[in-house]
Amino acid sequence: MDDSDLARLRACPHCDALYRLPELAPRERADCARCGATLIAPQVRAFSRSFALAITALILMAGAVFGPFLDLSTAGMQSRASVLDAIEAFSDGVMFPLSLAVGALIVVIPALRLALIAYTLGPMLRGGAPWPRAGQAFRLAEQLKPWSMAEIFLIGVAVALVKVAGLATVHPGIAFWALCLLVLVTVLQDTSMDKETVWHAIETRRGKPDGSFGAAERPTAATPAMAKRA
Ligand SMILES: [Zn+2]
Repeated sequence: MDDSDLARLRACPHCDALYRLPELAPRERADCARCGATLIAPQVRAFSRSFALAITALILMAGAVFGPFLDLSTAGMQSRASVLDAIEAFSDGVMFPLSLAVGALIVVIPALRLALIAYTLGPMLRGGAPWPRAGQAFRLAEQLKPWSMAEIFLIGVAVALVKVAGLATVHPGIAFWALCLLVLVTVLQDTSMDKETVWHAIETRRGKPDGSFGAAERPTAATPAMAKRA
């Protein structure tokens, strides 16, 4: 058994039954014959959903960073802050590294991750070949996942809000709601994306002209143990 044989083996995520994957067309799916769990989701639909969620998250990210985040008012004084203000608040003197870390962890890394996912999936939406270095881009997106901390920032903000609410009137701005939505969309994006399917598509479509499905992706007979549905 060589490497390409090994790459085609897939264990069912629920019951551990081992399958040799058949070649699937982009609109076909493969289910476990024993427990019915999805082994490979239809690529076309899965890719467009993940791609759309990544783009949505990028737009929400822009709104969350540049829009007004909080309005504070107390005793006739009013103050307005954005996420950018929060990052810049530490930009003087010894706290500068903290400012850099906050900016990287809550804005730059999450945005870079989403852009890398969009770069990987975009060209493959209609069955085309991946762009150059799509494999590296997707791997980097996976490696950055633990460092993408927009939701941690939101938890911090929520805790701070509870403390400040007793001292001043707090009005969450549009950026606050954008960040809440962003966290939700990012979770949806992460859970909806079948990484194995993405890797499989990157491998099998490499070097093919755009918009065409190569011989390896045309539907073929399924192995006897595999239930296959269009
Ligand atoms: Zn199973």
